[in-house]
Amino acid sequence: MKRLLVLGAGTAGTMVVNKLRKRLDRSQWQITIIDQNDDHLYQPGLLFVPFGGYRPDDIVESRRRFIPDGVDLVLGEIDRVNADGNSVRLTDGRELGYDFLVIATGVSPRPDQTPGMLGPLWGTRIFDFFTLDGATALARALDAFDGGRLVVHITDMPIKCPVAPLEFTFLVEAYLRSRGIRDSVEIVYVTPLPGAFTKPIASTQLGSMLDERKIMLESDFLVERIDNEAKTLVSYDEREIPFDLLVTVPLNMGADYVARSGLGDELNYVPVDKHTLLSRAYDNIFAIGDANNIPISKAGSVAHFSVEVFADNFCQFVDGKPMTGSFDGHANCFVESGDGKGLLIDFNYDTEPLTGKYPLPFVGPFGLLAENRRNHWGKLAFRWMYWHLLLPGRPIPLPSHMSMAGKHQPAATDAKEM
Ligand SMILES: Cc1cc2nc3c(=O)[nH]c(=O)nc-3n(C[C@H](O)[C@H](O)[C@H](O)COP(=O)(O)OP(=O)(O)OC[C@H]3O[C@@H](n4cnc5c(N)ncnc54)[C@H](O)[C@@H]3O)c2cc1C
Repeated sequence: MKRLLVLGAGTAGTMVVNKLRKRLDRSQWQITIIDQNDDHLYQPGLLFVPFGGYRPDDIVESRRRFIPDGVDLVLGEIDRVNADGNSVRLTDGRELGYDFLVIATGVSPRPDQTPGMLGPLWGTRIFDFFTLDGATALARALDAFDGGRLVVHITDMPIKCPVAPLEFTFLVEAYLRSRGIRDSVEIVYVTPLPGAFTKPIASTQLGSMLDERKIMLESDFLVERIDNEAKTLVSYDEREIPFDLLVTVPLNMGADYVARSGLGDELNYVPVDKHTLLSRAYDNIFAIGDANNIPISKAGSVAHFSVEVFADNFCQFVDGKPMTGSFDGHANCFVESGDGKGLLIDFNYDTEPLTGKYPLPFVGPFGLLAENRRNHWGKLAFRWMYWHLLLPGRPIPLPSHMSMAGKHQPAATDAKEM
């Protein structure tokens, strides 16, 4: 028997085992997947928890439900990969061997990496919404908030779903209006980027949406520490931003075992070939989803499109044939903008988010970089698609490669790549 071992039963790992169990002969292949717990969290749903849109029960399911027959799910924390010996050790001492390894352990917010973030204000004035505990605590804090300076902050890039903090900012602005206290709140959006987003056209569009909502943008801000006594963010270039309520996205890092195993870069991301996701160091290890270092947004959509390419490639690879599929970095995300509206962005390694229609030219039904209600409904419908189509690895009628159909290519742009 050949052994395929998948580390992490989140978005990417679950899709991988569902796709490959159908493709790899059961009499020849044993497939095992490991995760540290049985709770599969639908992370895009975290955005709505602070506003009471979802309760924790609405976005957590048992992982077992999504692991197909013929795949062993092992619950335990990964301690180390011995890549030269083809084995993985868990913190409880169990050891699992493999012939092929897929690393899909994602990234996590790490507030411990910024001095002062986990100080006395953590959980009273400083919150995150990238974890279920954080998003639920923030819901209570927002409920009790009745005015002052609300700062939304990104520690450093890359983060998973880089539009999520912008979406949170648009939603909180609408939420404060709905409570009739918008005039007593100053909202500031603080980012390490030179503008509202990572690419010029989307950055201009999203930046003007901040302006329209009278939200201040503080760009190029790299936080050095948080001063709990003064209630300020302090940057390396000695700027200070005071806050009454701080909603921060801490540094996003890959799992610590990746570093302990000598498989990661300085943020514990696994270096891979960006088209095949094969490790640069070992030819029987792939890294898929947020866990790798490919130069595109960390997003569930990227995990999905790349798994489609990976599954075909993997079958060729283990048959000793060249991998013919080439992942193009395809990403797309709905961007909530408040008041029941949203935008959609669709892009890849070479093409930045453009305006137009998706997936069909003229027809859409979704608008690219344009606010409308359909995009908002698309975002809400995505939860159903996630549980029922994406995770089980069912076919979705969307091409895994980005298409230019429906997109408006600007004649010329003098905006600089950010
Ligand atoms: C607030 C928010 C909003 C988002 N919105 C969107 C969106 O609208 N659209 C979109 O496309 N994406 C969105 N994302 C991003 C998306 O959720 C992630 O990119 C996606 O889940 C990545 O999948 P993954 O499998 O790589 O990692 P994950 O789904 O995070 O899975 C990693 C798994 O590894 C396990 N693991 C980690 N370390 C260990 C260990 N040592 N031992 C055992 N198990 C371990 C974890 O328990 C986890 O189950 C959002 C994310 C957040 C936080």
